Amino acid sequence: MNYTSLAGELQSLVKGTVLVNEPMKKHTTWRIGGNADLFVHPADKEDVRQAIEFARSKQMPCTVIGNGSNLLVRDGGIRGMVLKVGRGLAGISIEGTTIKAGAGAMLPELAAAARQAGIGGFEFAAGIPGSLGGAIMMNAGALNGCVADVLVSVEALNEDNQYVTFYKEDLDFSYRFSSLQDKAIICLETSWRGFPKSSETIKEETREYLSKRKLAQPQGYPTAGSVFKNPPGDYAGRLIEACACKGMRVGDAEVSQKHANWIINLGNATARDVLTLIEKIKKQVQERFNITLHLEIRVLGED
Ligand SMILES: Cc1cc2nc3c(=O)[nH]c(=O)nc-3n(C[C@H](O)[C@H](O)[C@H](O)COP(=O)(O)OP(=O)(O)OC[C@H]3O[C@@H](n4cnc5c(N)ncnc54)[C@H](O)[C@@H]3O)c2cc1C
Repeated sequence: MNYTSLAGELQSLVKGTVLVNEPMKKHTTWRIGGNADLFVHPADKEDVRQAIEFARSKQMPCTVIGNGSNLLVRDGGIRGMVLKVGRGLAGISIEGTTIKAGAGAMLPELAAAARQAGIGGFEFAAGIPGSLGGAIMMNAGALNGCVADVLVSVEALNEDNQYVTFYKEDLDFSYRFSSLQDKAIICLETSWRGFPKSSETIKEETREYLSKRKLAQPQGYPTAGSVFKNPPGDYAGRLIEACACKGMRVGDAEVSQKHANWIINLGNATARDVLTLIEKIKKQVQERFNITLHLEIRVLGED
C-alpha cells in the first residue's frame, strides 16, 4: 500500500492529524517500538469513526492505543493504522458526584477533577499514567481501588462502527481484565460516579499514597509499570525477586533493582531485549515455584 497517498486521502476526511511511518517509541512510556504505517490523532469522536470507516474501506488493520503506558510494541512496528485516543477526546465535566470524561483524558486528570470537586473514590487513579480508555480496557487499579469501583458506563464504537453504550455490569471486570479486551471496541466517552468526600482529606491521602508509590517504584527510566499480573494469592514481584532476577539484563532491558516486576529501559532497549528478558524470568519462576506468570502488558506489532 502507498501510505503517503492513503494519509493524504484520510487527512481530507478528518480534522485531526494523520502521520506516515510514525515511530511508536514516541507513543509508549517504555520508549520502545518500530514504526506504524499510518498514525492518527483524532480531533473528536467523529474523527475516530471516519478513520475506522476509512481503514475498513481499504482493508487496513486498525490498532487503538491510549497513552501507551501498558504497551510493548515489537521492533518491526505496526502494520496499517494506529489510532491514538488522546487529547482530542479529553474533556471533563462534573455534575454532583458524576464525572463525564472523554476516553483520552488521563487517570491523574480524573483524580484531580474529583479531588477539586470533593468527590471520593478516584484516589487510586492519581498515580497511574494511563488514559481512561486504556484504564477501562485494563481495569487499571492500585492498592486502594480500581476502575470497576467507580465506572458507570462507557460510550464506544462497536465492531460495526456504531455508537453503543456499555454499562459496568456488561464488562465482566476482574483483576486487570475487562470483557472488552481483544475486541474491536473503541472507548470514546466515559461516565463515573464517586461519593462526597472532603477535598482536603483527598489531597492529604493522595499525597501520602503518591509518596509511597514513589518509594516503591523505579524512577528516571522508561517503564510500562508491572510487567506480569500477580498470580492468585501471591505477588509476581516477590516471586521474581526470590529467583534473584533483580538486575538481570538483556541488552538495555533490565529487571528493576527497586521493583522486580518492572523492567526498565536503560536507553536503547528493543522489544526483542524485553521479550527475551520476559522469557528468562518466566522460566526461572516456573522452575522454582511451578507458577506460570501471565503478562499484564499488551504486546502489539510484528518483529
Ligand atoms: C509508571 C507506571 C505506573 C503504572 N502503574 C499502574 C498501576 O498502579 N495500576 C495499573 O493498573 N496499571 C499501572 N500502569 C499500567 C498502565 O498505566 C495502565 O494499564 C493504563 O490503564 C493503560 O492505559 P493507556 O492509556 O496507557 O493504555 P495503552 O497502554 O495505550 O493500551 C492498553 C490497552 O488498552 C487498549 N486501549 C487503549 N485505549 C483504548 C480505547 N480508547 N479504546 C479501546 N481500547 C483502548 C489498547 O489497545 C491496549 O490493548 C502503570 C504504568 C506505568 C508506566
